[in-house]
Parts: sequence; C-alpha cells; structure tokens
Amino acid sequence: MTTMFPPSPQLLRVTAVGCLTLVVHLSTAEEHPHERDKLMDSSSLRLVWSWGSNDHPEWCSSFKSAGFNSLVAPVPHAEEWWQNVNGINHLTPVLESARREKMSVYIQIMWSGDVSMKISQRNGRHAVTAKGTVEERLACPVDPRWWKDYLEPSLETLARHSLKEPALRGVVIDTEQYQGKETSGAVGDIYCFCDDCMTGFLEDRKIQQALPVPAKRSERMEKLGLLADYRDHLEKQVQKLASTLATRLAKINPAFEIHFYCVEEGWFYRGFLKGLAANQLPVCVLDSSTYNGYLPKRGEKMRQMLAACNPKAIWMPGYYTDSMTARGIGITIRKMNAEKIPWWLYNQEIPFPEKVLGAVKNPPSRVEAPSARTGTTATQDDLIQKSP
Ligand SMILES: [Zn+2]
Repeated sequence: MTTMFPPSPQLLRVTAVGCLTLVVHLSTAEEHPHERDKLMDSSSLRLVWSWGSNDHPEWCSSFKSAGFNSLVAPVPHAEEWWQNVNGINHLTPVLESARREKMSVYIQIMWSGDVSMKISQRNGRHAVTAKGTVEERLACPVDPRWWKDYLEPSLETLARHSLKEPALRGVVIDTEQYQGKETSGAVGDIYCFCDDCMTGFLEDRKIQQALPVPAKRSERMEKLGLLADYRDHLEKQVQKLASTLATRLAKINPAFEIHFYCVEEGWFYRGFLKGLAANQLPVCVLDSSTYNGYLPKRGEKMRQMLAACNPKAIWMPGYYTDSMTARGIGITIRKMNAEKIPWWLYNQEIPFPEKVLGAVKNPPSRVEAPSARTGTTATQDDLIQKSP
C-alpha cells in the first residue's frame, strides 16, 4: 500500500502538512493538454491532499461534490519507480476516477524521501548546514547530478504519462527536509555549505581562500562580507537547474505544471521560483504556515516575495484537518472563497472526515464561531484551532 511520507513530528507540532485541492476548471477530460493552461484560474484553486487517496479512488466523487477540483497523489518514495515500466500503475485507479469527476491530479514528489536520499548517497554530495552539520540523508540542493538522476527522470516520466492521462496535470514537489538530522522544514538559508558549493563560489569569484572546515564556512563568509554574495551565487545555481528542468518538461508537455510545498524567504525559493518561470505556467506555492488558520500578514509577505521572483506564482494557504475544527475550516474557506484566495487542505485521517467534507461543501455562514481551544467565541476566524 502506498501512503504519503509522514511529515516530521517537529513540523506537525507547529503546523501540519496538508491536502491540496487545486481548483482548476477542466472543461472536459478529452481536452487537449496543451490548451489546459489557458483554463487555469488562479483564484479558484481548491486542492485536497489526503492520505489514502490512492487506495480510495472512490473519494474523488465526494471531493468533487464538496467543491474540491484537484487532489495530490503520492508515488512510492522508497524506489526508483520511473525505471520500471509498471512503476506508476498504482496511480491508474485514482487517475481514472479523477478523470471521470473532471478533477486534476498532482503527483507528490519528495525532495527528501528514501529514494532521493539513496541517490544523493550514491553521488556523495550532501547538504551541509551553516553549523557544519553534514546531512548524509539530504542532497545538496544544487547538486546537478542529483537533479539529473532524480528530479529530471521522475518528472519526465510523469510529464510523458500526462499526455495519455488528461487528469494528470503536474506535480507538487514536497521540499520539506524530512530527513534532516539538524532540523527539518523548508530549504532555508542554513544550507548549503558543502565542499562543492563553497569551492564553486570561491572559484567563480576568483577568491584566493583556503577552504575552511565546514563549521567555519558561514562565519568566514560573514566576516569577509561575502555571505549575501554567496547566497546570491547559490540562488543562481538553483535558478539554472530549475529552469533546465522546467524547459525539459515543457518540451514533453507544455502544459505540465510544477508546483511546490513548503516555502520561506531565502536563496533557494527565490532561485527555484525564478527558474520555474521558464515554462510560463502558474506555480502554486503550498504554504503550511497557515495550518492552524489564515495569516493575512504572512500572505502579504509571501505574495510580495513570489511576485518579485515569478509573475505566475500563486501563494496558497493550507489548512490541516488535525489542527482545525471542521467548523473552523468551513469558516476560513468561506472567507477564502469570498476573497478569491486559492487554498488547500491537508488530511491524514482515514477515512476522510465527513464533517470536513460537509464544512467545505456548506461553509458556516457566521464569521464568529466557538473556539474548541478556548471555549469562547473567536473574534477572528484566523484562530479557530483544535488544540493549542
Ligand atoms: Zn551544497
């Protein structure tokens, strides 16, 4: 049985990984894939990302009638499935069901899963943090071999399959660093101080400097006033890699979308967003900071960052069924829908909670609602949480 890769406990305590439901108006299943991007309405994305979706293709019907128009489905994270002609056969039932319901399916691609780790270990280039921690289970984010051996063949396989299967619209790259031993979370500015990243920078800038030990590299860059320049160098590396990836996929299917989960301000996401602009398609950025409720200031900040990097990037707040009451989710999405803010939902509960489906289908009309946490009436619909 295929399941989603479990989000790290650390992250779950704070937020919660989610179920996306990108609402994209697919007019007909027979529609030519190259025409699909014209139909993308960024204000109407409603995506559900739930554990069990592959094992329960019949859920598509309930999702659709509740108002979702897209879902996320996982691929095995422990094997190189793209090397096997039957590697994605397990997706057939959910893709067929989604097609019947005129829903879109996005495949979850793990940045930090077992197969990704194996490939990075084979190549021998690991992420190194600013503290000097060598992350043997994480790839260096700008290792071109890892992109070539992992992201490119896996996504190309799915892009080719999307030509035969109209419900398959693209991927959501899950960039959470689940396998990090120092920390998990987004690909932040603590990365990457590996030998190759640092040597590449020094050579590029023609700086005569002996390679410091890993734990001293960030500090040395800072002392030399080069840290911002170093991050700019890394940003350009990831931009180039993402641009190559997007271009290669567009040659296979110009409508194949690349979205991603997890985001924070920093060199990696700036470069990634800029590079993905190469395919000129919308890039949905699935934020988990909102798992406990909508955060207007976060939205404002992220939209500014996204707009500066990719004119087609779309910030999507996500809501987690384990962190919010069904009523709280309903009230929140009523607000999202009224303000035309695209959103996504994450769920780990199997079967999918009926109450949540009901709340999505018929969101409560009152803005004020009892808070399960405090037992009092919430004055802001941002704060309707299940637990502290
Ligand atoms: Zn590196």
